[in-house]
Amino acid sequence: MPAFDQDRQAVIDRAFDARIALINSGTDLRSNCVTQDLLQYDNVFAAYGLSPFHLDEKILVEEFIRQNVDSAVAIGEVGLDFFHAKEERQWAEQEDAFRRFIQLSQELNLPLVIHSRDAEERVFKLVHRVDQAVYHCYGGSAELLNAITDCGHYFSVPTRVCHSPHHQKLVDGAPQEAVIVETDSPYQAARRGRNEPALVGDAVVAISRIWGMTFEDTASILVENTYKAFNLA
Ligand SMILES: [Zn+2]
Repeated sequence: MPAFDQDRQAVIDRAFDARIALINSGTDLRSNCVTQDLLQYDNVFAAYGLSPFHLDEKILVEEFIRQNVDSAVAIGEVGLDFFHAKEERQWAEQEDAFRRFIQLSQELNLPLVIHSRDAEERVFKLVHRVDQAVYHCYGGSAELLNAITDCGHYFSVPTRVCHSPHHQKLVDGAPQEAVIVETDSPYQAARRGRNEPALVGDAVVAISRIWGMTFEDTASILVENTYKAFNLA
């Protein structure tokens, strides 16, 4: 993310000092390359993807993923974003690229990290048969989340759960074994300013209150779920 161009090393050191490992997701060719560079740090894992707003790079990114598949724990973020695209023609283009990357994740045997905004039902129809999937920052309905977790797919909860009653309700209704956490850095901070991986504990605190458990017990469930979601065990 360009938001970290000035102090990337310090941000990763802070996460490392807080004993936090992170999965960095690329969204275009440049950020996939930056993600790969970050693998020099012991606490970083890579996911390579394509955002619905860089579709002109889809061939290049697919090629990059095929060449670097051994260094990835997932394909993503990929998905649909109808919040920022309002025309049916754009939706069709997004869906076409998304199908490509869904197929790629199956072929390469990697979990899919899904970006979905205002397109949750359509995304679900496309991925419900996929073996392994993580819905990053899911903010859709509780009913659909039930269907998602019934497929064995994961609900990744962003730090904004601290202030979002909707996300709190979703966590409350979801099976514990389907929940993982993320920051979506540099976005969605629970505090003022830029978000960063070292702040993921904010989401853990919010979830521990909902589950009525200690921070430590909550964290250990979330870590175990993350290991399963990304085959890290
Ligand atoms: Zn996203």
